Amino acid sequence: MSSSLRFETRAIRAGQPPCPATGAIVTPIYATTNYQFESLDREGGGYEYSRVQNPTRKAAEECLASLEGANHAFLFASGMAAESAVFGLLSSGDHVVCIRDVYGGTISLLKMLQKHHGIETTYVDCAQISEVEAAFRPNTRLLWLESPTNPLTYVIDLRSLCALGKRHGAWVAVDNTFATPYLQNPLSWGADFVVHSATKYLGGHSDLTAGAVALNDATLADAIWDQQAIAGGILSPFEAWLTLRGMKTLAIRMRAHQENAIAVARFLAEHPKIERVLYPGLPDHPQHLLAKEQMRGFGGMVCAFVKGGREETKRFCEGTRLFLLASSLGGVESLIGYPLIMSHSGLTEEERHLREIADNMVRLSVGIEHVDDLIEDLDQALKGS
Ligand SMILES: *Cc1c(COP(=O)(O)O)cnc(C)c1O
Repeated sequence: MSSSLRFETRAIRAGQPPCPATGAIVTPIYATTNYQFESLDREGGGYEYSRVQNPTRKAAEECLASLEGANHAFLFASGMAAESAVFGLLSSGDHVVCIRDVYGGTISLLKMLQKHHGIETTYVDCAQISEVEAAFRPNTRLLWLESPTNPLTYVIDLRSLCALGKRHGAWVAVDNTFATPYLQNPLSWGADFVVHSATKYLGGHSDLTAGAVALNDATLADAIWDQQAIAGGILSPFEAWLTLRGMKTLAIRMRAHQENAIAVARFLAEHPKIERVLYPGLPDHPQHLLAKEQMRGFGGMVCAFVKGGREETKRFCEGTRLFLLASSLGGVESLIGYPLIMSHSGLTEEERHLREIADNMVRLSVGIEHVDDLIEDLDQALKGS
């Protein structure tokens, strides 16, 4: 598919030609384990066995590769399986430099790598480039980044950090789950790997679990292909099909998410019961200008601090009716989360302090319902908090 076509067009067409046998315009779910060999000298149609390759998965992979501006993309059974594939390229004794505000599951995975393979990680504040630079060791093999961060929505300078990683001879991986390829393509800044939890915005409807790795380098792509086909954490044909269907509407969903998110952020910022709001699209966000320069929009995640403490925050979270109290993000429905008690409950007080996880902080995944209904819902919940 021509890369000169625009994002919206590629999302609907890349990797998805009509079926040559039937003319079906939607890629079928190839629920088959094996494929017939034409003879002992030739496999039929390039497929042999569904762990190794599946046409539905391939269509979704080609589509995502096109959206990320990547030469290759690989779909996995979850975002964590995708991350495991990248970390699986490390060897015992390697060292990782990782953004401090990283997704919690990544911290758990890095703990496992340390325990079983002696791979150590240094967590750094990526807003301080000198701190990142100082963390590099001769054996640093991978710099792991995420922007905007969870749950604070901080934005880091991905272009400079990719260059820094390269200067030190390390691979750079960017978890692009929050931004999505609609808002930024880190490979274009020199990242070696882009990783997604497709469970979130790519799927977009909170009805699947999936992950992806996108990349350009052919040798690294072979290594990730091994991780997928040999380690075997593949995405099923049905979920590949759901991912493909989700990606078709990624652009219009992201536009709707961020249109609602800015309205919600502005409403909360002016509300007397809210102390502070963090949303990259607000002019008082600490990296608003960087976000404006780096991203093609500001996304659908909003972080807010309720006036008061745990009691008030708890009442707010439990008082919303449309915003459902749930972890995860990126679906069409709005969710509210309380990181202190939900996503970040496993951290010690000190770790929470370091990561600025406050007692009065809530995270909103703003959906695409009518914005007036969302604002009325937050307003009524704040009346009770
Ligand atoms: C959810 C998430 C993951 C993990 O993805 P799963 O699909 O749940 O395995 C990784 N990174 C980020 C930023 C996430 O939000």
